[in-house]
Amino acid sequence: MKIILAQPRGFCAGVVRAVNTVERALQQFGTPVYVLHEIVHNQHVVDDLRTKGARFVENLKEVPPNAVTIFSAHGVSKEVENEARDRGLQVLDATCPLVTKVHNHGRQYAVRGYQVILVGEPDHPEVIGTLGQIPARVVVVQTKAQVATLGFTRNMPLAYITQTTLCVDDTRAVVEALKRRYPRIIGPDTRDICYAVQNRQTAVRELSQHVDVVLVIGSPQSANSVTLRDIAAQAGKPSYLIADGSAVRSEWFDDKSTIGITAGASTPEVMVDDVLNALKRIAPLEIENLPGREEHVHFRLPDGLIARQ
Ligand code: SF4
Repeated sequence: MKIILAQPRGFCAGVVRAVNTVERALQQFGTPVYVLHEIVHNQHVVDDLRTKGARFVENLKEVPPNAVTIFSAHGVSKEVENEARDRGLQVLDATCPLVTKVHNHGRQYAVRGYQVILVGEPDHPEVIGTLGQIPARVVVVQTKAQVATLGFTRNMPLAYITQTTLCVDDTRAVVEALKRRYPRIIGPDTRDICYAVQNRQTAVRELSQHVDVVLVIGSPQSANSVTLRDIAAQAGKPSYLIADGSAVRSEWFDDKSTIGITAGASTPEVMVDDVLNALKRIAPLEIENLPGREEHVHFRLPDGLIARQ
């Protein structure tokens, strides 16, 4: 079988920073360190950090006093930040800087008196954190159809912000619908949507042109991985979202000679190797990389860690 690997794929700079934050915290402070929510949406990453001494909790109440506590890449609400401070927890904030940028935009709009509309998935942790960072009521919309149901008047001061990990084209379509309905609405350029999400979506779209079937490696909880699978499907290719090599099914490749592989922004490269090994058990592989955009984005570690180096 011929395998074509998308470029770029896998870990983005925000995920690298979040995972490094937990690993460095374990080295510097010893075990355990507490992580509020999954540090990123990938079971392999979470399990690996758990074996190294990280404890994942869903509520700060589970964290003992003075413990080292890490906020996940998706961000948290002000209420959670305040609770951690009031309890004297030693916080390392691994919120991706691009998510923090969305928080800042939303806060600034709210303070200036705009009604903020957040384009995103209502139940996603990033959206929940963002809602809790803005000191005003924020309305969440996910689809163009929902834009049509909004009850705001045309001349109200409105502003939009967007979840970082959505499908870029879908987000643009919702923003265009908002602009058509509310011509005076303001918001950041949709090119501000996370660079890694855009690059991986562009790459899988290109990949889909060259292959018979697409495997997206990532968690079903990972919004950006789900979107990669959807984009390949929209391009007319059978596409499967799988966590690792154990999910590979040989019947997917009957009558197929070229397989495209990509990975979500929270998927480590070791999972790509795992899938390649599973495919090698089906047939010999010829592997090539599809040329794509090179990424050189790095985010520095949270202040608390660097101060203790
Ligand atoms: Fe940050 Fe983008 Fe990665 Fe999300 S996908 S963690 S916004 S760099």
